[in-house]
Amino acid sequence: MNAERESIPFDVLFVGGGPASLAGAIQLMQSAAAAGVQLEAALIEKGSEIGAHGISGAVLNPAALAELIPDYREKDCPIEATVREDAMVYLTSNRHFRLPFIPRYLHNRGFHVVSLSKFTRWLGQIAEELGVNVFPGFAGSEVLFDADGRTVAGVRTGDKGLDKDGGRKGTFEAGIDLTARVTLFGEGARGSLTRDLQKRLHISEGRMPQVFETGIKEVIQLPQDHYFSRSRENCIHLMGYPLGLRTPGGGFIYEMSENRLTLGFLTALSYEDTATDLYDLFIQFKRHPFVSRLIADGKVLQQGARTVSTGGYYTMPRLLFDGGMLIGGAAGIQNTPALKGIHVSMKSGMLAAQAVVEAFAGGGFDTRKLAAYPRWMETGWIKDELYQGRNFAQALAKPPLTKLIHLGAQYVTRGRGLQDKMPLTADHRHLKPAEKPVPSAAASPTDGVLYLDKLTGVYLSKTHHREDQPSHLIIHDPDVCIRRCIPTFQAPCVRFCPGGVYELAAKEDGGPPIKLNPSNCLHCKTCEIKDPFENITWTCPEGGDGPEYTLL
Ligand code: SF4
Repeated sequence: MNAERESIPFDVLFVGGGPASLAGAIQLMQSAAAAGVQLEAALIEKGSEIGAHGISGAVLNPAALAELIPDYREKDCPIEATVREDAMVYLTSNRHFRLPFIPRYLHNRGFHVVSLSKFTRWLGQIAEELGVNVFPGFAGSEVLFDADGRTVAGVRTGDKGLDKDGGRKGTFEAGIDLTARVTLFGEGARGSLTRDLQKRLHISEGRMPQVFETGIKEVIQLPQDHYFSRSRENCIHLMGYPLGLRTPGGGFIYEMSENRLTLGFLTALSYEDTATDLYDLFIQFKRHPFVSRLIADGKVLQQGARTVSTGGYYTMPRLLFDGGMLIGGAAGIQNTPALKGIHVSMKSGMLAAQAVVEAFAGGGFDTRKLAAYPRWMETGWIKDELYQGRNFAQALAKPPLTKLIHLGAQYVTRGRGLQDKMPLTADHRHLKPAEKPVPSAAASPTDGVLYLDKLTGVYLSKTHHREDQPSHLIIHDPDVCIRRCIPTFQAPCVRFCPGGVYELAAKEDGGPPIKLNPSNCLHCKTCEIKDPFENITWTCPEGGDGPEYTLL
């Protein structure tokens, strides 16, 4: 379709309004001012505002924040709580055991519990004050390339006002071409433009496949007298039930301000049992006697879901290519053993921004100087953290006893373990065929207040999508669903999607085998990762659509 498109040139473009891009944008303006460099920078975010899609654990190691904004406390950084004491708890089906030993990378005392949506909103305001053009509600729909076909030239934002069949409505607005000398992709885990770059520029060639966990998270309002108001420990990590030791994953419970807590449960998408229902695992975790006591008399205020990349150092794609860089979760930058990504994401954005300023210093634009970014990523505390976790995901993928032996050896050798560079397998390859009929509905009871069914959870994520637009979820070949996926795996999409987007259609309908409810989508990306036939592609819906997180 031909559309008159506006084109706006910038020097630097950040794609995504998460911690990597925002820290990068702030660093860019700070470093440019210090070097006397004039730069026009823009940042686009697909959520309706900065923070609307911000969801994470989230214990913040303040290492990068303190470098970026040393007086962050005086600048009213929204800190929910500061960790007083950690606890690690192993759950069996009805008992719990406190572990006497907490690994060094899970020592969180003095770190901050934050709401990523509040924290990124705060960073966004600072970036704007420093002169960054922040455009929320704009989704990047495609990467623009120079005439050579391989130098990134910017990003085209998605058209708005298309009907279900892709026709223009009266409200149609063509997307805008935002061009830039250098574009920094900070879309978070499994970014759709990053995926396209990987295919076109082969930036993941020679790397291990990325692996992911999907987390479902809530903020719960508690009565005034609650566990954390009486206890010193306010940062609890949990393992075991309901997953056991075979599938990686686990839960967390952190204190927040205003008598709230945040609670989440992550499941590795390497799980094998096609009957696995990610949402039901989350409810089972909440209903464990230890957890349910902590949240007793509470009320869920908000719920959301997102995948996180956990593969670590050996899965990271090439960070620099002509005209562009990858930063943060989009590049798989994550300290997996520490269960943290925010501070390393921020640091990667900051280092990339410093390299950009060096490239602009001196009047022209010297692309060779951007090479400082991947070089600096191989130095300092960020390298130490990422490198120590380089074999962690590989160890987690092993059977229980072998896993413990590998993890122990890695702990002692600071990451190397018994074997360096153990292979990793992509998540969608792990699923095993169903051996018996899978129950059609999840079993855990819900009450609409503290234990929510899926759709009430979607309601509390405030997710919305304009109904009359092309589906942003593409099932490429319905025949694969009918002939291969449903007979072999019994439609795992119905169970791995935490938003209830996929439903088995009634046979007598005579239409496609899977009914889609794209307006429920939480933008977690699980479906694109776990579909065993890679038959699903997630694309950006209209800018401004999706969750409206304010507390997560
Ligand atoms: Fe997540 Fe895909 Fe479901 Fe959307 S449709 S909520 S991206 S699994």
